[in-house]
Amino acid sequence: MITIKNLVKSFGSQTVLQGIDLTVSEKEVVVIIGASGSGKSTLLRCINFLEMFDEGEILIQDRRIFPKETNLNKVREEVGMVFQHFNLFPHKNVLENIIEAPVHVKKVDKAQATEKALQLLEKVGLRDKANAYPENLSGGQKQRVAIARALAMEPRIMLFDEPTSALDPELVGEVLQVMKQLAKEGMTMVVVTHEMGFAREVADRVVFMGDGKILEEGSPKQFFTNPQHDKARQFLNRVL
Ligand code: ADP
Ligand code: MG
Repeated sequence: MITIKNLVKSFGSQTVLQGIDLTVSEKEVVVIIGASGSGKSTLLRCINFLEMFDEGEILIQDRRIFPKETNLNKVREEVGMVFQHFNLFPHKNVLENIIEAPVHVKKVDKAQATEKALQLLEKVGLRDKANAYPENLSGGQKQRVAIARALAMEPRIMLFDEPTSALDPELVGEVLQVMKQLAKEGMTMVVVTHEMGFAREVADRVVFMGDGKILEEGSPKQFFTNPQHDKARQFLNRVL
């Protein structure tokens, strides 16, 4: 589904991604972990072309994306993204938030988009909040709306950038539960998270980043029980 070859990205004189190679297969759940500043968000943003890279290639479903030639909105329809800070439209209610992109970007008929949105709200357990405004929702509810909103575009791949990091601890579980369900249904997912329990339980593969590189990758079992890289061991000692 995703092939990344020798991805290099600098901000000014700082090289943040130093040659990343990564492939993600259909229905695979890849969890990316690593210390703050290691380049995880930048990598996800590159996959979604919210950030332009300096060298390397990204292929989505075997198609190399050339940012200047490809319609990036089409790519973003196929690659949904959920952020740490929900980014809901504050002046739109939940339903309007969800149908905005399908109706205005994808030109889906409004009644059809609404029906789909209600199904998605059911799926994330928020059918009764369709008419609520974001300010009246908890963080966990907002994030579940953000997930429904991303799913409304019917993406083939979902990227999550620390989706539970801004939540009060008691609200983390409800969001992870929705993500776990999505994984079970076969969604291809790349998840940056500090939730090691989720990584252990849901990931097919764990990727450990440090200093803009992939320092180690493997099954959760391998990685958590027998990390090879010094930095991975130090990281696990800090977070577990
Ligand atoms: P992570 O998500 O692993 O914490 P990031 O990808 O956010 O790491 O950041 C990696 C490095 O790139 C950090 O040193 C950060 O300060 C820097 N960085 C990220 N975005 C920008 C930007 N837009 N401009 C300049 N530096 C940035
Ligand atoms: Mg980040």
